[in-house]
Amino acid sequence: MGEYVSRLMAQLVAKNPGEPEFHQAVQEVAESVELALQRHPRYVDAKIFERIIEPERVVMFRVPWVDDHGDVQINRGFRVEMSSAIGPYKGGLRFHPTVYLGMLKFLAFEQVFKNALTTLPMGAGKGGADFDPKGKSDGEVMRFCQSFMTELQRHIGQFTDVPAGDIGVGGREIGYLFGQYKRIRNEFTGVLTGKGLNWGGSLIRPEATGYGAVYFAQEMLATRDDRLEGKTCLVSGAGNVAQYTVEKLLDLGARPVTLSDSGGFIYDKEGIDREKLDYVMELKNVRRGRIMEYADRFPGVAWTPVDAAKHYNPLWAIAADCAFPSATQNEINEEDATNLLAAGVFVVSEGANMPTVPFGVEAFLEAGILYGPGKAANAGGVAVSGLEMAQNSSRRAWSRETVDGRLHTIMQAIHHTCWTTAEEYGASGNYMHGANIAGFTKVADAMLDQGVV
Ligand code: NAP
Repeated sequence: MGEYVSRLMAQLVAKNPGEPEFHQAVQEVAESVELALQRHPRYVDAKIFERIIEPERVVMFRVPWVDDHGDVQINRGFRVEMSSAIGPYKGGLRFHPTVYLGMLKFLAFEQVFKNALTTLPMGAGKGGADFDPKGKSDGEVMRFCQSFMTELQRHIGQFTDVPAGDIGVGGREIGYLFGQYKRIRNEFTGVLTGKGLNWGGSLIRPEATGYGAVYFAQEMLATRDDRLEGKTCLVSGAGNVAQYTVEKLLDLGARPVTLSDSGGFIYDKEGIDREKLDYVMELKNVRRGRIMEYADRFPGVAWTPVDAAKHYNPLWAIAADCAFPSATQNEINEEDATNLLAAGVFVVSEGANMPTVPFGVEAFLEAGILYGPGKAANAGGVAVSGLEMAQNSSRRAWSRETVDGRLHTIMQAIHHTCWTTAEEYGASGNYMHGANIAGFTKVADAMLDQGVV
């Protein structure tokens, strides 16, 4: 760690205590950005990075609602508006019991660089609540969403801040949130993305993050004249990102063999095929069941429950070529990263945000594998959200082929930017440095143009 990063981190930790995910995310970017700061002292003089780590605005609010038993429940809601240097705040909402301010600051911070990489004019934000939609009735989820939006609507708008989904926020939740926004504001605008197709949504938005992570892996492999066809792939999670990662892997002739949720993982040696994926989509999106049911439904599939006594996740020790972590932050710990490399994995494309701990990232970079960090590899989701905003503004809907084609082109462009930026800064093949520096310089230049605001 250089002197600049040590000083910055000491100040950050003192000013933002108890927010380890935020510290981790800032440190990783700071270590890359230090290379750019050495070359461009104007960023140092204008204290650009010091400004980027301070959110432009944070709102935190009470979300009271009534459950099915008539009892009053209270959750805490947040919106972190991190940066509007290159466009309106943009980023998802997460509903999960672990949500707190530090987690959303880490996610909003990552979003700054990710959104800058998409080539689209989007600033960065993130929000959510410590509400757990699991086990709640549709009525309870609706009442929660309505209460959440009753406050959030004051702070967002199509030209101000445009939230989308994330963990625990899918099509159902976006529908309830949009309904309440429209009711209170009396306007039908593109204030949220991930909307339903018949009320302003875009084709390919649900698929975009998973498809994008696979397109990114495809580009990384192409640098070594290799392809996904025939590759055995580990996928974690069983939600939106994981499902569409599996779908695109199947389209490209790869063999996905695992899926997981917070209860454990399934290992299907034969491969998860189209029929099995349809089962998972129905299980997770309609019945809202657990992934362990997959092992009951299909013979020969191993189910491994989470074992709190184990310091590693056996999913990451299965012999494979590629890994697509698509569940949550820090799901690949030190031991998991070591196991992945020992199991022969040489491509990691992160569908989730910051799924690998810093030691793991270092291990991947040292081993010289193809490592695509989340802020580049999973940028397809927010990119298609940007395309949804463009369609809403022009009051038109593009075809599936048009949106998928644009997504593919954007992922190729992101890969190219990361690759060439890494080269330019003497870090050939290091997509992490490439993504961080390219994202940073785009936002930093806009901030220089706009003065001290
Ligand atoms: P999702 O549909 O809610 O699915 C999340 C999946 O991850 C579920 O299978 C969930 O299992 C599992 N999971 C969540 N928290 C976990 C934990 N603490 N431990 C173990 N498993 C956990 O969410 P998603 O949209 O697919 O998001 C997955 C990841 O991708 C997140 O890191 C998110 O930030 C990132 N991402 C999403 C998008 C997007 O467009 N949706 C875009 C960019 C990045 P349970 O159901 O058991 O909790």
